Amino acid sequence: MSDDVPRDDLEPPDEATVTPPDLDASGDDPEPFTYNGGRVDPGESANIRYGISETYLGDPVRIPVTIVNGEQPGPTVFLSAAAHGDELNGIEVVREVAHDWNHADLHGTLVCLPVMNVPGFLAQERYLPIYDRDLNRSFPGREGSTSARRMAHRIFTNFIEPCDLGLDFHTSTRGRTNMLHVRANMDDPTVARVANAFSSNVIIAGEGPSGTLRREATDAGVPTITVEMGEAHRFQRRLIDRALTGVASVLAEFGCHRDSAVHWPGWRTVIDDDDEKTWIRADAGGIVDMKRGRGELVREGEVICSITNPFKEEDDIETVEAPFTGLIVGVLENPVVYPGNPLCHLVGLSQDTLTALERERGEGRARSRSRLRD
Ligand SMILES: [Zn+2]
Repeated sequence: MSDDVPRDDLEPPDEATVTPPDLDASGDDPEPFTYNGGRVDPGESANIRYGISETYLGDPVRIPVTIVNGEQPGPTVFLSAAAHGDELNGIEVVREVAHDWNHADLHGTLVCLPVMNVPGFLAQERYLPIYDRDLNRSFPGREGSTSARRMAHRIFTNFIEPCDLGLDFHTSTRGRTNMLHVRANMDDPTVARVANAFSSNVIIAGEGPSGTLRREATDAGVPTITVEMGEAHRFQRRLIDRALTGVASVLAEFGCHRDSAVHWPGWRTVIDDDDEKTWIRADAGGIVDMKRGRGELVREGEVICSITNPFKEEDDIETVEAPFTGLIVGVLENPVVYPGNPLCHLVGLSQDTLTALERERGEGRARSRSRLRD
Protein backbone atom coordinates (compact mmCIF):
# COMPACT_ATOMS: atom_id res chain seq x y z
CA MET A 1 0.00 0.00 0.00
CA SER A 2 2.92 2.31 -0.64
CA ASP A 3 0.71 4.68 -2.65
CA ASP A 4 -1.37 5.32 0.45
CA VAL A 5 1.52 6.55 2.49
CA PRO A 6 3.35 9.19 0.52
CA ARG A 7 4.55 11.16 3.52
CA ASP A 8 5.48 10.05 6.99
CA ASP A 9 7.14 12.01 9.71
CA LEU A 10 8.75 10.22 12.57
CA GLU A 11 10.68 13.13 13.97
CA PRO A 12 9.44 16.62 14.72
CA PRO A 13 10.51 19.11 12.07
CA ASP A 14 13.40 21.36 13.11
CA GLU A 15 11.23 24.44 13.03
CA ALA A 16 8.69 22.97 15.43
CA THR A 17 9.54 25.53 18.03
CA VAL A 18 7.73 28.79 18.62
CA THR A 19 7.70 30.66 15.36
CA PRO A 20 6.96 34.37 15.31
CA PRO A 21 3.63 35.24 13.73
CA ASP A 22 4.04 36.23 10.12
CA LEU A 23 0.42 36.36 9.10
CA ASP A 24 -0.50 39.72 10.51
CA ALA A 25 1.15 42.46 8.50
CA SER A 26 -0.81 45.09 10.36
CA GLY A 27 2.12 46.24 12.45
CA ASP A 28 2.65 46.55 16.15
CA ASP A 29 -0.67 47.95 17.25
CA PRO A 30 -3.51 45.66 18.30
CA GLU A 31 -6.64 46.27 16.25
CA PRO A 32 -10.35 46.17 17.06
CA PHE A 33 -12.35 43.26 15.66
CA THR A 34 -15.29 44.61 13.70
CA TYR A 35 -18.34 42.88 12.24
CA ASN A 36 -21.55 44.22 10.80
CA GLY A 37 -23.16 45.80 13.82
CA GLY A 38 -20.37 45.87 16.34
CA ARG A 39 -16.75 46.01 17.36
CA VAL A 40 -14.60 44.44 20.05
CA ASP A 41 -11.57 46.48 21.09
CA PRO A 42 -8.15 45.11 22.10
CA GLY A 43 -8.26 43.77 25.64
CA GLU A 44 -12.01 43.16 25.48
CA SER A 45 -14.19 40.08 25.10
CA ALA A 46 -17.79 39.91 23.94
CA ASN A 47 -20.52 37.28 23.86
CA ILE A 48 -22.72 38.00 20.87
CA ARG A 49 -25.92 36.44 19.57
CA TYR A 50 -25.77 37.25 15.88
CA GLY A 51 -28.84 36.99 13.65
CA ILE A 52 -28.29 34.90 10.52
CA SER A 53 -31.91 34.11 9.52
CA GLU A 54 -35.52 34.11 10.70
CA THR A 55 -37.87 31.29 11.72
CA TYR A 56 -41.37 30.56 10.39
CA LEU A 57 -42.60 32.70 13.29
CA GLY A 58 -40.52 35.61 12.13
CA ASP A 59 -38.20 35.34 15.12
CA PRO A 60 -34.46 35.74 14.64
CA VAL A 61 -32.20 32.69 14.25
CA ARG A 62 -29.10 33.77 16.12
CA ILE A 63 -25.75 32.04 16.46
CA PRO A 64 -23.62 32.38 19.59
CA VAL A 65 -20.26 34.05 18.95
CA THR A 66 -17.53 34.86 21.47
CA ILE A 67 -14.82 37.30 20.42
CA VAL A 68 -11.71 37.44 22.60
CA ASN A 69 -9.49 40.31 21.49
CA GLY A 70 -6.06 40.22 23.12
CA GLU A 71 -4.19 43.26 24.35
CA GLN A 72 -1.25 42.34 22.12
CA PRO A 73 -1.25 42.32 18.32
CA GLY A 74 -1.31 38.99 16.54
CA PRO A 75 -3.30 36.82 14.15
CA THR A 76 -7.07 36.49 14.19
CA VAL A 77 -8.04 32.82 14.55
CA PHE A 78 -11.52 31.34 14.23
CA LEU A 79 -12.67 28.15 15.93
CA SER A 80 -15.98 26.82 14.67
CA ALA A 81 -18.17 23.80 15.41
CA ALA A 82 -21.56 22.24 14.70
CA ALA A 83 -21.80 23.18 11.03
CA HIS A 84 -23.49 19.79 11.27
CA GLY A 85 -26.03 20.25 14.05
CA ASP A 86 -25.56 16.89 15.79
CA GLU A 87 -21.74 16.95 15.94
CA LEU A 88 -21.20 17.99 19.53
CA ASN A 89 -17.57 17.29 20.53
CA GLY A 90 -16.31 20.46 18.84
CA ILE A 91 -18.85 22.59 20.67
CA GLU A 92 -17.17 21.73 23.96
CA VAL A 93 -13.69 22.35 22.51
CA VAL A 94 -14.70 25.84 21.33
CA ARG A 95 -16.52 26.67 24.58
CA GLU A 96 -13.59 25.67 26.76
CA VAL A 97 -11.11 27.67 24.70
CA ALA A 98 -13.42 30.70 24.78
CA HIS A 99 -14.47 30.61 28.42
CA ASP A 100 -12.18 28.38 30.50
CA TRP A 101 -8.77 29.38 29.20
CA ASN A 102 -6.81 32.35 30.47
CA HIS A 103 -6.29 34.76 27.58
CA ALA A 104 -4.69 37.55 29.63
CA ASP A 105 -1.55 37.34 27.48
CA LEU A 106 -3.30 36.62 24.17
CA HIS A 107 -1.55 38.00 21.10
CA GLY A 108 -4.25 38.43 18.49
CA THR A 109 -7.96 37.64 18.45
CA LEU A 110 -10.04 34.48 18.81
CA VAL A 111 -13.38 34.25 17.03
CA CYS A 112 -15.28 31.39 18.65
CA LEU A 113 -18.35 29.96 16.87
CA PRO A 114 -19.46 26.96 18.95
CA VAL A 115 -22.78 26.35 17.15
CA MET A 116 -23.04 27.51 13.53
CA ASN A 117 -25.99 25.39 12.44
CA VAL A 118 -28.48 26.50 15.10
CA PRO A 119 -31.62 25.01 13.45
CA GLY A 120 -29.84 21.64 13.07
CA PHE A 121 -28.54 21.83 16.63
CA LEU A 122 -32.04 22.48 18.01
CA ALA A 123 -33.37 19.50 16.04
CA GLN A 124 -30.22 17.43 16.83
CA GLU A 125 -29.82 16.78 13.13
CA ARG A 126 -26.84 16.97 10.80
CA TYR A 127 -28.48 19.16 8.18
CA LEU A 128 -30.45 22.37 8.30
CA PRO A 129 -34.00 21.05 8.82
CA ILE A 130 -35.18 23.41 6.07
CA TYR A 131 -35.19 21.09 3.03
CA ASP A 132 -32.29 19.16 4.59
CA ARG A 133 -29.67 21.54 3.28
CA ASP A 134 -26.05 20.97 4.24
CA LEU A 135 -24.66 24.15 5.75
CA ASN A 136 -21.18 22.73 5.20
CA ARG A 137 -21.76 22.68 1.43
CA SER A 138 -23.22 26.20 1.38
CA PHE A 139 -20.13 28.34 2.06
CA PRO A 140 -19.16 31.03 1.24
CA GLY A 141 -22.88 31.66 0.79
CA ARG A 142 -24.63 34.39 -1.11
CA GLU A 143 -27.08 37.17 -0.34
CA GLY A 144 -30.34 36.68 -2.22
CA SER A 145 -29.82 32.91 -2.61
CA THR A 146 -31.28 29.91 -0.70
CA SER A 147 -31.90 30.03 3.04
CA ALA A 148 -28.77 27.92 3.67
CA ARG A 149 -26.56 30.15 1.51
CA ARG A 150 -27.89 33.30 3.15
CA MET A 151 -27.00 31.92 6.58
CA ALA A 152 -23.59 30.81 5.34
CA HIS A 153 -23.02 34.25 3.83
CA ARG A 154 -23.72 36.07 7.10
CA ILE A 155 -21.40 33.76 9.03
CA PHE A 156 -18.69 33.89 6.38
CA THR A 157 -18.55 37.65 5.76
CA ASN A 158 -18.77 38.67 9.42
CA PHE A 159 -16.73 36.06 11.24
CA ILE A 160 -14.62 34.02 8.79
CA GLU A 161 -13.25 36.46 6.22
CA PRO A 162 -11.72 38.81 8.83
CA CYS A 163 -9.57 35.93 10.16
CA ASP A 164 -6.02 34.83 9.36
CA LEU A 165 -6.56 31.12 9.95
CA GLY A 166 -9.21 28.74 11.20
CA LEU A 167 -10.06 25.39 12.79
CA ASP A 168 -13.45 23.80 11.99
CA PHE A 169 -14.48 20.92 14.28
CA HIS A 170 -16.55 17.94 13.14
CA THR A 171 -17.31 14.37 14.13
CA SER A 172 -18.13 11.32 12.09
CA THR A 173 -21.59 11.06 10.57
CA ARG A 174 -24.20 9.54 12.90
CA GLY A 175 -23.78 5.76 13.13
CA ARG A 176 -20.01 5.89 12.67
CA THR A 177 -17.06 7.04 14.72
CA ASN A 178 -13.52 8.13 13.90
CA MET A 179 -10.12 8.74 15.46
CA LEU A 180 -9.16 12.32 16.00
CA HIS A 181 -7.58 13.38 12.72
CA VAL A 182 -7.05 16.46 10.59
CA ARG A 183 -8.25 17.06 7.05
CA ALA A 184 -6.29 19.74 5.24
CA ASN A 185 -5.08 20.91 1.87
CA MET A 186 -1.40 20.11 2.44
CA ASP A 187 -0.46 21.76 -0.89
CA ASP A 188 -1.11 25.14 0.75
CA PRO A 189 1.93 25.93 2.94
CA THR A 190 0.02 27.85 5.62
CA VAL A 191 -2.76 25.24 5.79
CA ALA A 192 -0.03 22.61 6.15
CA ARG A 193 1.53 24.67 8.94
CA VAL A 194 -1.80 24.80 10.79
CA ALA A 195 -2.38 21.07 10.20
CA ASN A 196 1.07 20.07 11.41
CA ALA A 197 0.79 22.33 14.44
CA PHE A 198 -2.49 20.68 15.47
CA SER A 199 -0.39 17.60 16.22
CA SER A 200 -2.69 14.76 15.25
CA ASN A 201 -1.17 11.43 14.25
CA VAL A 202 -3.18 11.23 11.05
CA ILE A 203 -3.63 13.97 8.45
CA ILE A 204 -5.84 13.29 5.43
CA ALA A 205 -4.66 15.55 2.62
CA GLY A 206 -7.01 17.11 0.10
CA GLU A 207 -8.73 20.39 -0.61
CA GLY A 208 -12.19 19.08 0.40
CA PRO A 209 -15.52 19.35 -1.42
CA SER A 210 -16.60 22.74 -2.70
CA GLY A 211 -18.92 24.55 -0.30
CA THR A 212 -17.18 23.23 2.81
CA LEU A 213 -16.03 25.87 5.25
CA ARG A 214 -12.41 24.78 5.20
CA ARG A 215 -12.10 24.80 1.41
CA GLU A 216 -13.97 28.06 0.85
CA ALA A 217 -12.22 29.83 3.73
CA THR A 218 -8.84 28.65 2.44
CA ASP A 219 -9.73 29.81 -1.09
CA ALA A 220 -10.72 33.18 0.38
CA GLY A 221 -7.29 33.58 1.98
CA VAL A 222 -8.09 32.17 5.44
CA PRO A 223 -6.06 28.93 5.72
CA THR A 224 -8.38 26.48 7.48
CA ILE A 225 -8.31 22.85 8.56
CA THR A 226 -11.07 20.45 9.59
CA VAL A 227 -10.64 18.42 12.76
CA GLU A 228 -12.62 15.17 12.84
CA MET A 229 -13.18 13.60 16.25
CA GLY A 230 -15.38 10.75 17.43
CA GLU A 231 -19.07 10.38 16.94
CA ALA A 232 -22.19 12.55 16.78
CA HIS A 233 -24.50 13.16 19.78
CA ARG A 234 -21.75 12.77 22.39
CA PHE A 235 -19.20 14.61 24.46
CA GLN A 236 -16.12 12.35 24.42
CA ARG A 237 -13.81 13.71 27.05
CA ARG A 238 -10.53 12.16 25.95
CA LEU A 239 -11.00 13.31 22.38
CA ILE A 240 -11.94 16.79 23.58
CA ASP A 241 -8.76 16.93 25.67
CA ARG A 242 -6.65 15.86 22.69
CA ALA A 243 -8.28 18.52 20.55
CA LEU A 244 -7.59 21.15 23.22
CA THR A 245 -3.92 20.12 23.12
CA GLY A 246 -4.06 20.67 19.36
CA VAL A 247 -5.62 24.12 19.71
CA ALA A 248 -2.98 25.15 22.27
CA SER A 249 -0.29 23.90 19.93
CA VAL A 250 -1.67 25.90 16.97
CA LEU A 251 -1.94 29.03 19.12
CA ALA A 252 1.69 28.50 20.18
CA GLU A 253 2.85 27.93 16.59
CA PHE A 254 1.32 31.23 15.44
CA GLY A 255 2.50 33.22 18.45
CA CYS A 256 -0.92 33.81 20.03
CA HIS A 257 -0.04 32.13 23.30
CA ARG A 258 3.65 32.74 23.88
CA ASP A 259 3.76 30.58 27.01
CA SER A 260 2.46 27.46 25.27
CA ALA A 261 4.65 25.05 23.34
CA VAL A 262 4.10 23.45 19.96
CA HIS A 263 3.20 19.83 20.58
CA TRP A 264 4.66 16.92 18.64
CA PRO A 265 2.34 13.88 18.42
CA GLY A 266 5.14 11.26 18.39
CA TRP A 267 4.51 10.09 14.85
CA ARG A 268 2.51 11.35 11.94
CA THR A 269 1.22 9.98 8.67
CA VAL A 270 -0.23 12.04 5.83
CA ILE A 271 -2.48 10.15 3.43
CA ASP A 272 -4.28 11.24 0.31
CA ASP A 273 -7.98 11.89 0.48
CA ASP A 274 -8.85 10.50 -2.92
CA ASP A 275 -7.77 6.96 -2.16
CA GLU A 276 -11.24 5.39 -2.10
CA LYS A 277 -9.97 1.88 -1.63
CA THR A 278 -9.07 2.62 1.96
CA TRP A 279 -12.82 2.63 2.66
CA ILE A 280 -13.74 -0.99 3.13
CA ARG A 281 -17.34 -1.51 2.04
CA ALA A 282 -19.82 -4.29 2.69
CA ASP A 283 -20.45 -6.67 -0.20
CA ALA A 284 -23.47 -8.17 1.55
CA GLY A 285 -26.37 -6.63 3.38
CA GLY A 286 -26.95 -7.70 6.95
CA ILE A 287 -26.13 -7.28 10.60
CA VAL A 288 -22.51 -6.51 11.38
CA ASP A 289 -20.53 -8.17 14.14
CA MET A 290 -17.64 -5.70 14.39
CA LYS A 291 -14.51 -7.20 15.91
CA ARG A 292 -12.21 -4.18 15.83
CA GLY A 293 -12.50 -0.57 16.99
CA ARG A 294 -11.47 2.96 16.18
CA GLY A 295 -7.72 3.53 16.42
CA GLU A 296 -6.83 -0.17 16.35
CA LEU A 297 -4.00 -1.57 14.28
CA VAL A 298 -5.03 -4.56 12.15
CA ARG A 299 -2.72 -6.93 10.29
CA GLU A 300 -3.30 -8.05 6.73
CA GLY A 301 -5.70 -11.01 6.75
CA GLU A 302 -7.05 -10.40 10.26
CA VAL A 303 -10.82 -10.43 10.60
CA ILE A 304 -12.35 -6.95 10.91
CA CYS A 305 -15.99 -8.02 11.12
CA SER A 306 -18.54 -10.52 9.93
CA ILE A 307 -21.89 -9.83 8.30
CA THR A 308 -24.72 -12.15 9.26
CA ASN A 309 -28.43 -12.54 8.59
CA PRO A 310 -31.12 -12.75 11.29
CA PHE A 311 -30.80 -16.58 11.42
CA LYS A 312 -27.03 -16.57 11.93
CA GLU A 313 -26.79 -19.32 9.34
CA GLU A 314 -23.20 -20.52 9.00
CA ASP A 315 -23.36 -20.58 5.20
CA ASP A 316 -24.47 -16.98 5.06
CA ILE A 317 -21.84 -15.45 7.31
CA GLU A 318 -19.60 -13.15 5.29
CA THR A 319 -16.23 -12.54 6.90
CA VAL A 320 -14.38 -9.31 6.11
CA GLU A 321 -10.59 -9.40 6.45
CA ALA A 322 -8.08 -6.57 6.36
CA PRO A 323 -6.71 -6.38 2.79
CA PHE A 324 -3.51 -4.81 4.15
CA THR A 325 -1.97 -3.89 7.50
CA GLY A 326 -3.30 -0.56 8.66
CA LEU A 327 -4.90 1.70 11.21
CA ILE A 328 -8.68 1.88 11.62
CA VAL A 329 -9.32 5.63 11.40
CA GLY A 330 -13.11 5.38 11.12
CA VAL A 331 -15.54 2.57 11.83
CA LEU A 332 -19.23 1.68 11.74
CA GLU A 333 -21.11 1.97 15.04
CA ASN A 334 -24.67 1.31 13.94
CA PRO A 335 -24.27 -2.38 13.05
CA VAL A 336 -26.43 -2.70 9.92
CA VAL A 337 -25.42 -2.41 6.27
CA TYR A 338 -26.66 -2.53 2.73
CA PRO A 339 -24.15 -3.76 0.16
CA GLY A 340 -21.88 -0.80 -0.57
CA ASN A 341 -22.15 0.81 2.86
CA PRO A 342 -18.82 1.62 4.52
CA LEU A 343 -17.60 -0.72 7.25
CA CYS A 344 -14.38 1.02 8.17
CA HIS A 345 -11.77 3.46 6.98
CA LEU A 346 -8.47 1.60 7.00
CA VAL A 347 -5.30 3.60 6.47
CA GLY A 348 -2.07 1.93 5.33
CA LEU A 349 1.13 2.75 7.19
CA SER A 350 4.76 2.66 6.15
CA GLN A 351 6.98 0.18 7.99
CA ASP A 352 8.69 3.03 9.87
CA THR A 353 5.39 4.48 11.04
CA LEU A 354 4.19 1.03 12.01
CA THR A 355 7.32 0.55 14.10
CA ALA A 356 6.88 3.96 15.78
CA LEU A 357 3.23 3.24 16.49
CA GLU A 358 3.98 -0.18 17.94
CA ARG A 359 6.69 1.30 20.13
CA GLU A 360 4.23 3.94 21.35
CA ARG A 361 1.55 1.31 21.99
CA GLY A 362 4.04 -0.85 23.83
CA GLU A 363 5.06 2.02 26.07
CA GLY A 364 1.51 3.24 26.34
CA ARG A 365 0.19 -0.10 27.54
CA ALA A 366 2.52 0.10 30.48
CA ARG A 367 0.90 3.40 31.46
CA SER A 368 -2.65 2.90 30.38
CA ARG A 369 -4.77 1.41 27.65
CA SER A 370 -4.07 2.49 24.09
CA ARG A 371 -3.99 6.26 23.78
CA LEU A 372 -5.71 6.20 20.42
CA ARG A 373 -8.78 4.35 21.49
CA ASP A 374 -10.62 7.32 22.86
ZN1 LIG B 1 -19.49 17.34 10.08
